[in-house]
Amino acid sequence: MKPQLELDSRQTGAFARLREEFPILQRRVDGRPLVYLDSAATSLKPRSVIDAVVAYYTESTANIHRGQHVLSEEASNQYESARTTVAQYLNCSSSEICFFRNTTEALNVVAHGLVFSADDTVLGFLDSHHSQILPWRRKAKLALVRVGADGRVDMDHYAELLRTRPRAVAITHCSNVTGAYVPLAQMVSMAKESGALTIVDAAQSLPHRIIDLATIPIDFLAFSSHKMLGPSGVGCLFGRGALLDQMEPVNWGGGMVDWVDAQSSRPRKIPHRFEAGTPAIESTIGFAHALEFLERHDPEAIARHDHHLSTELLRHACERSYLRFLGPTDANERAAILSLRVQGVDDLSMIARALSDSYGIMCRSGHLCAQPLVDSFSSSEVLRVSGYIYNTTEDISFFFRALDEIVSHLHVAGA
Ligand code: PMP
Repeated sequence: MKPQLELDSRQTGAFARLREEFPILQRRVDGRPLVYLDSAATSLKPRSVIDAVVAYYTESTANIHRGQHVLSEEASNQYESARTTVAQYLNCSSSEICFFRNTTEALNVVAHGLVFSADDTVLGFLDSHHSQILPWRRKAKLALVRVGADGRVDMDHYAELLRTRPRAVAITHCSNVTGAYVPLAQMVSMAKESGALTIVDAAQSLPHRIIDLATIPIDFLAFSSHKMLGPSGVGCLFGRGALLDQMEPVNWGGGMVDWVDAQSSRPRKIPHRFEAGTPAIESTIGFAHALEFLERHDPEAIARHDHHLSTELLRHACERSYLRFLGPTDANERAAILSLRVQGVDDLSMIARALSDSYGIMCRSGHLCAQPLVDSFSSSEVLRVSGYIYNTTEDISFFFRALDEIVSHLHVAGA
């Protein structure tokens, strides 16, 4: 198919200028500018993060917490200072921050490490990512709270299931399918009142919103560096100190013990007892630079930009009768994530391919690792667009105009 459209190059405003800090945005795809609308899968990386990773390789490559030499000391200091940066970002103690590979591993570590009795139950949510469903289903009896047709969590059903006294509640702050935010503070306080532990998946929310752990009494919080401008290979788990102290590590080996003899061993204090083996040193250092980048660009302005993109996504989707979308119609309740069905088209991977190859637009199709929710909305897959700080309203309008053009070739009614 030969595309007719061209991307308008007159992108303006503070967030358009910020694009210059992302080298990959200079890339062209078959001669067309790159339009990246897949940040819910992984975000692009700014120059400062890339430079920090390269600097580790070119200036201070060494393993951490192991050697007495200068390079090891430098790498160890940078790694531990990254832990402090993460703790300051969340307003907690650095001993409460553990590094793993990703959100999925962090959630599995909590599910594995908590000691439950045989009849304990966990509350999950129909719109959760598989990573916040499957570890709990292995651990305990899992009951899923319903999500309404508008993508909002059914708070009456949540209150009703809390009355069954679950041991833990596995909350997802922002759905990677609908983009809907839950009322986190209210849900955590309701869980506390019923005596349940709270484990929050913040993989999609923390890239856009600050979570102050000094004001919301969350017990555990998991998120990934790669979705918030940082390198892949690093996931963080925050856990309240007293709870982490009682948890059993998943991985045993080098780096997590104070002392070992022929029969026994003594694990190190938290957080180190959870971090066996050599970690993703350069990615962790890079992640601290990503958080510094986000702070430099003012977290409140980032949240406003997310809202602005979300408003634009909704406006364009509502104008097209051939599209159905999942989730709230109020942009205040959602992130810039929109999952679409195209009337009369089941194979959305073919549309995602055409958007990529003919227009240079990167977005995702599939069940989005949230199949219980996607199946409840659609008999097949969805097409997801998601924006971040480097996207402009022009990216969004280009996406919809390209979609119009593709769909018009498919002779879909209403297009
Ligand atoms: N939870 C949510 C809401 C997500 O969107 C994702 C990633 N798509 C995950 C968990 C898992 O993150 P990771 O792949 O970094 O473990």
